[in-house]
Amino acid sequence: MNMVKLHDLEFEPYLDQKTIASSVKTVAERIYADYHTKTPVFLGILNGSFMFLSDLMKYYEGDCEISFTKLSSYEGTSSTKNINTLLGAGKLEGKDVIVVEDIVDTGHTLEHIIEVLKSENVASYSIASLFFKPEAYQKSLPIDYIGLEIPNRFIVGYGLDYNGLGRNLSEIYQLKSSLND
Ligand code: 5GP
Ligand code: MG
Repeated sequence: MNMVKLHDLEFEPYLDQKTIASSVKTVAERIYADYHTKTPVFLGILNGSFMFLSDLMKYYEGDCEISFTKLSSYEGTSSTKNINTLLGAGKLEGKDVIVVEDIVDTGHTLEHIIEVLKSENVASYSIASLFFKPEAYQKSLPIDYIGLEIPNRFIVGYGLDYNGLGRNLSEIYQLKSSLND
């Protein structure tokens, strides 16, 4: 792996394909152990989760459905409160939903998603994230399946971007250490 430059910033190699693949496989096996008697819906949060979910599905051996969604926020017409919806998620009522995230940092995004999910009358929900930054996490919501815990550093690749670039990198890079701290 070599350094990569995205826009104005340099990133250094951090996690290779083998390390990522073995984490993804472990997550798939743990989910299977809990869900093999059910038909869960894997709900990928766009855009970051597309590569993780794609590989996760190759390792998942049970019956399942796959859907992707984007959290949209708009101003309600009759109130000043922001209303969040899960765009394109399809009907989730009565389903066992596994939310699939690329990375959980502060947990704000995830909290919004779970709030909306709860209003959809799902049978059950759990959360899978490839990466988790324990030092940055500000919520108490448990993350059921974590691929890798990482330090509070900015990473790119394998679906994760820096201002739109880097999602197509098949390995994970971190911001050059001199710029990170
Ligand atoms: P949170 O709401 O948990 O603070 O942040 C979640 C979102 O922030 C992630 O879904 C991701 O889009 C972005 N994010 C957080 N940490 C990183 C990171 O290290 N690299 C990249 N590329 N995005 C991140
Ligand atoms: Mg995301």
